[in-house]
Amino acid sequence: MISVNQAWEFVKNGALPLHSRRVPLSEALGLRLRESVVSPIDSPPFDKAILDGYAVIASDESTELTVLEQVIAGGVPHHTVEPGTTINVMTGAPLPDGADAVIKIEDLVDEIETKDGTTVQVPESGVAVGTGIMPRGSAFCQGQAVLDFGRYLSPIDLALLAEIGRAEVTVTPRPKVAVLATGNELVEAGQPVGPGQICNSNGPMLMAMLNACGAEAIDLGIGRDDPVELMKLMEQGLQADILLATGGVSAGVMDLVPGVLQGLGVKQVFHKIKMKPGKPLWFGEYDHQDRRTLVYGMPGNPVSTLVSFELFVKPALYVQKGGEFSLPSIQKAVLTNSIGHRGPRPSYYPSRVDYGQRENGFPTVEALPWRGSADLAALTNANAFMVQPAGDYLYEPGTEVEVISLG
Ligand code: AMP
Ligand code: MG
Repeated sequence: MISVNQAWEFVKNGALPLHSRRVPLSEALGLRLRESVVSPIDSPPFDKAILDGYAVIASDESTELTVLEQVIAGGVPHHTVEPGTTINVMTGAPLPDGADAVIKIEDLVDEIETKDGTTVQVPESGVAVGTGIMPRGSAFCQGQAVLDFGRYLSPIDLALLAEIGRAEVTVTPRPKVAVLATGNELVEAGQPVGPGQICNSNGPMLMAMLNACGAEAIDLGIGRDDPVELMKLMEQGLQADILLATGGVSAGVMDLVPGVLQGLGVKQVFHKIKMKPGKPLWFGEYDHQDRRTLVYGMPGNPVSTLVSFELFVKPALYVQKGGEFSLPSIQKAVLTNSIGHRGPRPSYYPSRVDYGQRENGFPTVEALPWRGSADLAALTNANAFMVQPAGDYLYEPGTEVEVISLG
C-alpha cells in the first residue's frame, strides 16, 4: 500500500495535457487559450457616433444648420458636412466626412421643418472637437495582441473574439470523462428498487462534479458485476480522456474491475492507498497512439468516491485542461468539538468550516457526526475534510487542525 503523497506523485507523472484543438466560441468558455490572439481589425473599425445626435464641424459658428441626411447604425453617410450643415446620426453610425463632433439630440434648441427640408438650431455655446465620437482604432488597432496565450477564456474574452470576427479559437479542449457505476445491487434513481438493491448515487455525484470542473461528462450508466459486460462498457470508456469506474475494486468475490481493466491493456500504476476513506483506489494508464486515458477504479462507497475524486481526480483534470499540477489546498482551522482518531491510516473527516468565526486568526471547524463511508447524508452539511494524521489520539476543542475545503 502506498502513501497519499506517493499516490499524488503517480497521478502527477501520469497526467498529460490534452492536445490543442480549434473549437467554436460556444464551446470555449473556461478553456485555456493556446494561441496569442492578434486583432485583424481596428476597434472601432471606423470613427463612430456614440450617441444619437447631429454631426457637426466644432469650429462652425452657425447656430442654424441644414440637415443633409439621416444615417442609422449599419448605414453610411452620402454627404460631407460643411459649415452651415449637419447630418443626423444614430449611435453606432459612421461619422460623416467633414464632421468632428456630435451634438446630443437632447441639446438641440429647436428643429424647424421647411418645404426645403429640416433645419436645426444648435446651442450657441458650441461643442468641443471629438465630443460624441469614438475614433477608429481607439480601443485597439489591427495587429495588436488582444488576448495572451495561456489565459482561461471568460465570457468577456469570447465577446472580444467575436468582435474581431473570430468564430473559432485554439484551446486545450474540455476533457471527456466517462463515468461507470459497477455493482449488481445498483439501480438508477427513479427505477423500482428490489430486495437487496440500492440506487446509484455515485453516478449523479460524479457527473455533477465533473460538469462543475469544466469536463465533458459521459454517463455509461450501471455495469453488472460480469466480466463480459464490464469489458464492453470499459472499452467504450477508454475512448474518453479519463474513465471513472466506481465499485468492484476491493477484495470481494465480485471485485472484478482491476482484472477487467488489465485485460483491456490498461497498465496498473497503483492499487490501494494508506488512507481512510478511499483505501481501495485503483489507478492506471491506457496509452493510445498519441494520447493517454487515465483510469480510476474508485471504491463504491459514495464518501470514498468523493474523497478519491477531490484528492486524485481533480488535480489530473486540471493538468489535462492545460494547467499546472496542483494539490488540493490545505488550510489551518481551529476545532470546536472533540474528535478521536485510531489506526495507522490518515483520515479525511467530513467537517464544517465556519469562515466567519475566527480563533487565533484561523476559521473554526466542527467535525460532523458521521457513520463512515456509506453515510452520504452527513456530507450534506460538510464543506471540508479535516486531515487527521495516522495514530491513536484525541483532539480537544481548540486544537489547530488542517482542512481541505470541498468544491
Ligand atoms: P464495492 O466497492 O463494490 O465493494 O462497494 C462498496 C459499497 O459501496 C457497497 O455497499 C456498495 O453497495 C456501495 N456502492 C457501490 N457502488 C455504489 C454506487 N454507485 N452508489 C451507491 N453505493 C454504491
Ligand atoms: Mg461492488
